[in-house]
Amino acid sequence: MAAPSHRRSLRKRRVLAVSAALVAAAAGAGVLVANANAGTVDLYHQTLAAKDGWASSGAGTTGGSKADAAHTFTVSTRAELVKALGSASDTTPRIIKVKGTIDANTDDSGKKLTCADYASGTGYSLSAYLKAFDPATYGRSKLPSGAQETARAAAQNKQAKNVVLKVPANTTIVGVPGSNAGLNGAMLQIQSVDNVIVRNLTFAATEDCFPQWDPTDGDDGNWNSNYDAVTLRGATHVWADHNTFTDAPHFDTANPKYFGREYQIHDGALDITKSSDLVTVSRNQFTSHDKTMLIGSSDSEPAGKLRVSLHHNVWKGIVQRAPLARVGQVHIYNNLYDVTPLNGYAVQYSINSRAKAQVVAENNYWKVPSSVKVAKLLSGDGTGAVKDSGNLVNGTVTDLVAAYNAASSKDLKTTVNWTPTLTAGLTSATNLPTELATTTGAGVLS
Ligand code: CA
Ligand code: CA
Repeated sequence: MAAPSHRRSLRKRRVLAVSAALVAAAAGAGVLVANANAGTVDLYHQTLAAKDGWASSGAGTTGGSKADAAHTFTVSTRAELVKALGSASDTTPRIIKVKGTIDANTDDSGKKLTCADYASGTGYSLSAYLKAFDPATYGRSKLPSGAQETARAAAQNKQAKNVVLKVPANTTIVGVPGSNAGLNGAMLQIQSVDNVIVRNLTFAATEDCFPQWDPTDGDDGNWNSNYDAVTLRGATHVWADHNTFTDAPHFDTANPKYFGREYQIHDGALDITKSSDLVTVSRNQFTSHDKTMLIGSSDSEPAGKLRVSLHHNVWKGIVQRAPLARVGQVHIYNNLYDVTPLNGYAVQYSINSRAKAQVVAENNYWKVPSSVKVAKLLSGDGTGAVKDSGNLVNGTVTDLVAAYNAASSKDLKTTVNWTPTLTAGLTSATNLPTELATTTGAGVLS
């Protein structure tokens, strides 16, 4: 990673005098079902509406809405947030209000921690690491091992102790309106727990100080990083709503290359893996990022889980994985994909369906510049399905699967084994560019 001075936050602030529901109605979107209880219930106690995607199935997703006063927290520092999160095994309902921007790379007294601080005492240095594992001398057949790899892992563990924040079951984490609420440099880890709500937060600058070289990854090797801004692992009933995800202010164009490969300090924005299930991701903005969203991290994830709904999100300046779907039943509706290059992020593809994923992609809107071929918007391994309908490219109904299959040897299957029924708010795609401009991301909710 470059100098820690890159870690200034970049914030968009929108303070609206009227509720998001009214804005949506004014834009012709009709009822904003995701906030059906707004107006009668305050932001912190709101729950996922009925039929609002996979997270509404069964008992639904209520987060910490039943929290008592002793488990309702307002936090403005990393230490306060850690204390409010408590034990990952404590299932007492809790509401955590995040006021302002919290920097995860700070110690318990609030002092800024740099990559050098984490490396201190471990014996790690990038120059020594590069010397130890230069393919010219170390070869390309095995993963790094030895003193410098041990030291790198130790330094990485020190950073992880600070930036990985574990969320217990029955928790709502919400940004306080008007406070530029968010987490910088953090990985919110929702692992093996049920019933979590994450809303109105900007997740920025999640960066690994200590990427690992893997000469066996792909043809030329890769530098891999450890942290997603939000990561779901074996989590169920999760609602991620009205958040903003961005690499800002350190974009990938600033990454150096070592051994001819990009020194990648970012991993996922919101990854949903390891048999996570029943997830609704709504009205977020994903911007200026490469590997944005995994649904499933391995082709061998077991069948029957990884059921995810993605709706009314904006994907802007995304290279790939929006999402990369494996195995599960995934409903992608009413999203806006703007694949115009942004901050050096040029699209490889938007949606990838592999490992027999059953994707229904309907009524989404793609803004596509003339430099990008429509056949590039999808991807697959020949076993994944995408049933598509009602998708617009620059306002014109377009059969994305037909375009992709005509240009590819690994055709997407065009039929799926399910029919979505939890489809709150599903409309045609026509008005999405105007509607979603003012109703998505952090800073909109009041
Ligand atoms: Ca990841
Ligand atoms: Ca073909």
